[in-house]
Amino acid sequence: MTKILIVEDEPDMRRGLEDNLQFEGYATVSTSNGLEGLRLARQDKFDLIILDLMLPGMDGLDLCRQLKREGSSTPIIMLTAKGSESDRVMGLEVGADDYITKPFSLRELLARVKAILRRSGALSSLSEFQFDDIYLHFGRYEATKGSRPLQLSPREFEILRLLAEHRGEIVTRERFLEEVWGYESAPSTRTVDNHIAKLRQKIEADPDNPKYIITVHRIGYKFAL
Ligand code: CA
Repeated sequence: MTKILIVEDEPDMRRGLEDNLQFEGYATVSTSNGLEGLRLARQDKFDLIILDLMLPGMDGLDLCRQLKREGSSTPIIMLTAKGSESDRVMGLEVGADDYITKPFSLRELLARVKAILRRSGALSSLSEFQFDDIYLHFGRYEATKGSRPLQLSPREFEILRLLAEHRGEIVTRERFLEEVWGYESAPSTRTVDNHIAKLRQKIEADPDNPKYIITVHRIGYKFAL
């Protein structure tokens, strides 16, 4: 089970995070104190830490810095105050993997949690996939076509992984944006179409009449069974 540590001293916010993450199927452990957060993070293995910036005991920046210094590879999402550019920059400097500005929507937070867990491998069940003469290793971002290496970008791997994990099912363009693009920017669904077109050039024998990545008109794509 995917385990998330929440370090947040505002009781309502902490409870809201716990409830929603648990509802999504994650196990959570939470604390309101930075020092206690450090102790918990050291003692147990978490897949993700959601970390508030201003905390009693030890603040979020010091906590993040300390864990990274100790060699922790657990991804960290920082909760930063609205409009504070310096918080954001500092957070990334001390090694946070992502930040989210308060107030945020739960939908946005959950999308980012998912994107980070997917990137770190905590959520992906599929590590390899093969079709036609193409072999994909998602963990290593390695691909071959026949006996030759196939050049795919990390994003193209993630698109293929999402399709492969749901082969035969429709994956909507919105879902691609949420799970492959995550927070980074706010690309349009058109971006998805462009990436799929490029990907088809690389993997389909006849990109104009694709055999594998099938368009589902106006909705999204699916990988042919
Ligand atoms: Ca706080």
